[in-house]
Amino acid sequence: MIKAKKKYGQNFLKDESVVLRIIESMPKNNNKVVEIGPGLGDLTKQLVKYKDVRAYEVDRDLYSILRVEFINEINSGRLDLVLTDVLEVWNNNSSLYEEKYDLIANLPYYIATNIILNAFSDNNCENIIVMVQKEVADKFTVTSGDSDFSALGVIAELLCLENKIIIEVPPESFSPPPKVDSSVIYLKKDMTKTIDSKFNKFLKVAFAQPRKKLIKNLSAAYNKDVLSTLFIEFNINENIRPHELSSSLYSQIYTSL
Ligand code: SAM
Repeated sequence: MIKAKKKYGQNFLKDESVVLRIIESMPKNNNKVVEIGPGLGDLTKQLVKYKDVRAYEVDRDLYSILRVEFINEINSGRLDLVLTDVLEVWNNNSSLYEEKYDLIANLPYYIATNIILNAFSDNNCENIIVMVQKEVADKFTVTSGDSDFSALGVIAELLCLENKIIIEVPPESFSPPPKVDSSVIYLKKDMTKTIDSKFNKFLKVAFAQPRKKLIKNLSAAYNKDVLSTLFIEFNINENIRPHELSSSLYSQIYTSL
């Protein structure tokens, strides 16, 4: 019996019905699949039935178990198991795979947001179906007007053709159970779009103090008179708070600035 390591965010998914729901949600395409953190291989076992899979696992103990468990799939080339920290791969390469792929995983929660943002910038990644903590799932799927709407919501709306929650998952579905509720989200990227890093910086300024007025936040980095003129041009009330503005208006203000 393997002991879960907290430092690697190990909560193994034990509810088979959730695994099957993830599999059912996989888009019908010819993309490869990348899994981050195969763990004990419960999701991997299903994924390899349908697709060629590359799985990145950071934990050497789990990697050794998986190598034995999946010896046939590895030998046939169906599974490419890589022992490494996935964030290091993104630090050194622009993509986790050489061709188009879908990211399907029960993510380690301590780096879940970081992983999704990297997948957004990875030009070979098309669909993202991942289990994350509910709070993070909400941030990537709410629309403007919702009090949870943040920079992550703006980016997801601008970059994705679809961004939705597929299923909510209680702590009891995992071993050991995490301290938070979880959700599986589905993000379908629009492959014609990219977001530049300066836009991310602009959003950071816009949401620096989320409950303050948007124009006040933006004034910290941009000329107040220019902002006022733009707000009039786009018919935006100066009292608007950051979560109330739509993604497309964020994009338009940024372009004008
Ligand atoms: N997929 C398994 C499941 O559904 O039961 C395990 C999911 S568990 C929430 C997260 C997995 O990610 C663990 O196997 C953990 O060791 C792995 N992991 C954590 N940090 C990682 C990293 N930086 N790179 C690759 N894998 C990582």
